[in-house]
Amino acid sequence: MAAQTQAYYVSQTSAKQISDGNAKLSSTKKPALSSYPNIYGSTKIFSTLGYYLSVALMTTATAVFAATMRGDWLMFFVHYWKQNEPSDPTEPADRNASLTSHIVNHVPLFQDAWMYSLASVGVSYVTFFGIGGFLQCYFYIRQKQNPEDWKCQPTKWLSSKDEISEIMLGSLNMTIGGTLSGFITAYLINGGSTTLYWSMHEMGLPWLIISTVLTFIYLDAGAYYIHRALHFPPIYKNIHKWHHKYTAPTAFSTTALHPLEFLWLQGLMITPIFFIKIYSGAYIGIVLYSYYYGMMDHSGIKMEAVWPWQPNTYFHDDHHKYFHVNFGFNMKLWDWLHDTLRKTTRTYGEDVFWGKGKEVHKQQ
Ligand SMILES: [Zn+2]
Ligand SMILES: [Zn+2]
Repeated sequence: MAAQTQAYYVSQTSAKQISDGNAKLSSTKKPALSSYPNIYGSTKIFSTLGYYLSVALMTTATAVFAATMRGDWLMFFVHYWKQNEPSDPTEPADRNASLTSHIVNHVPLFQDAWMYSLASVGVSYVTFFGIGGFLQCYFYIRQKQNPEDWKCQPTKWLSSKDEISEIMLGSLNMTIGGTLSGFITAYLINGGSTTLYWSMHEMGLPWLIISTVLTFIYLDAGAYYIHRALHFPPIYKNIHKWHHKYTAPTAFSTTALHPLEFLWLQGLMITPIFFIKIYSGAYIGIVLYSYYYGMMDHSGIKMEAVWPWQPNTYFHDDHHKYFHVNFGFNMKLWDWLHDTLRKTTRTYGEDVFWGKGKEVHKQQ
């Protein structure tokens, strides 16, 4: 793993000399892996203990930010509500009553949905500007003088105009996402039909593991193929280009998407609760995992991958830098299968579609 990662960074550096077709983005020199202790701040400021504390603080802050900004914290509420729901002896064994029975019995499936939505949007905003702003201050302002220590693209910064636009667009999408979460929460609380199960031991350990892995793979594959579709030229130019405006992304870029794209991706995240028999806690875990790495992948901050299947933050940062390449998120598998991993022997740019890059013509 370490050797692979090292090779990756070496290839990143040599790629600069060989094939960077985008002149305005090409002057970045990525430092060797040995400089990585500075990811979370200057070692001059933090002692060893301080360093680990700052890592813990940043990780927690980002995880909370990621979980709350789209309203998914409400899933925790549903999870505990369902687990501690007082049992009713007259209730059928399957508590997830069907949609038809709700209609027949006039049980309002979306009762209190607006209340949940309002709470969700409110918390999203507080965390978006609170913790998101903190991340921005901690790295982009406080450590502006030494970007080579922590930044994926140390010479490239978003303009203030783009920073404002990504926050505006992110806020719009959070409002949409929070409202959607509120309705899903109401649906689940009011007994709407779902394939989630609420007790960890209900289906046994083997199924708990299999269903969790399957859901993770399904969501990652789904995100890859949706992303490939978003790079189909007409869709790219009209929709996905909104997100690619941020060539050196920040944490705020994560939700800076065309609302249709945001809904498409949020729609994908919700689908498992309707057709995969998965434990609610495991589903929440996968959602948090995806959002956490979504944030880190856009943060523009150099960060090692902890899990063997998870690419480091350069992987998606390079997607923003080179455009039509590295379409995956939490695994490189799909890019490897479709030969869309960035190659150091090719050039890339916003007009070079289809993920293969352009051949470099060697000088005579
Ligand atoms: Zn893209
Ligand atoms: Zn992105």
